[in-house]
Amino acid sequence: MDTLDRFAREKLDALALRDLRRTLYETERTDGVWVERGGRRLLSFSCNDYLNLTHHPKVKEAAAAAVARYGAGAGASRLVTGSHPLLGKLERRLAALKGTQTACVFGSGYLANAGIVPALMREGDLVLADALSHACLWAGAKLSDARTLVFRHNDVAHLGELLSEHRGAHRHALVVTDGVFSMDGDLAPLAELAALAEKFDAWLLVDDAHGLGVLGGGAGSVAQSRAAVPLQMGTLSKALGSYGGYLCASAPVIDLIRTRARTLIYSTGLPPASAAAALAALDIVEGEPERCARPLMLARAFTRAADLPLAQSPIVPVIAGAAKDALAAALALEEEGFLAVAIRPPTVTEGTARLRLAFTAAHREEDVARLAELVRARILRR
Ligand SMILES: *Cc1c(COP(=O)(O)O)cnc(C)c1O
Repeated sequence: MDTLDRFAREKLDALALRDLRRTLYETERTDGVWVERGGRRLLSFSCNDYLNLTHHPKVKEAAAAAVARYGAGAGASRLVTGSHPLLGKLERRLAALKGTQTACVFGSGYLANAGIVPALMREGDLVLADALSHACLWAGAKLSDARTLVFRHNDVAHLGELLSEHRGAHRHALVVTDGVFSMDGDLAPLAELAALAEKFDAWLLVDDAHGLGVLGGGAGSVAQSRAAVPLQMGTLSKALGSYGGYLCASAPVIDLIRTRARTLIYSTGLPPASAAAALAALDIVEGEPERCARPLMLARAFTRAADLPLAQSPIVPVIAGAAKDALAAALALEEEGFLAVAIRPPTVTEGTARLRLAFTAAHREEDVARLAELVRARILRR
């Protein structure tokens, strides 16, 4: 065996021993909530399709019409010929929803953060990140070469201490956080973070991947908090049911991002059909407030019935502890017809492996109640 294959095998074997090896299971999502996996039909509580728009007739029609008219792909970077008019239209809609001057659409949310942070920060600057920030914020911080400090999760006082001690020695400072934490479902204290950032002349970047469409009447967690956040990033791939990422900000900031963000410049533009789907999804978000409110309502019904802390977003963690216990919990629910994927380290910290449940508008109250009963009796053993 050559050294490369041996390296890969040994690495995988070591991970398997710790129940951390991962597998791709082929999954067909047949509508907004049901999936087919291994020949079985399961009710999914693991999709981020909070408003079930991936399969909404108007969203699908918009994408199909755009493919028929403009083709399957963008053909080049947005800086060359890949900036289709639908992307500009989408940027204006996103900026209006978020209350900023303008916006920039990226190929994905991951690409957005991996491009935004290094376009703003460099060596000699300071990035301060909530400990549970999403992987792509860490990637952006790393690519920027700025000094990166971590503040304890949602601990505004700790952030204040770090800013007091270190802000003065750096040219610029950027605070980064998720608005809704992707694996815990709790919310960042955005008003307090914004006030503290302002006090220390630090900029604030909020990743609202899981807030758009489901909090703040659909506008997201920043709107809900009423905080002044100059850098509002998010994705089109969760509640909007499409694909792509975005940053909403002032005109000069977006001009700089368009000029300097390497993940925008050196990556092909978003396919026009993804923008068309997102635009159709925004019509639904803005026109159907009851749909937007329902995922959180169901998550709260679940946490009440399962005797867990009240949900703050459509994401509810059910902590199992060890990786193998999370896998066993997922299997137990699968036997009852539910898909609830186990989340293990390094996605979450050691000892906090969990089921991460995501509630969507199309889930039925009776299924949520049955899931709560199973989780309470079989996993939490209460
Ligand atoms: C999913 C997610 C992203 C990445 O978005 P994609 O469009 O899927 O690349 C970024 N941030 C958070 C918090 C996420 O949950």
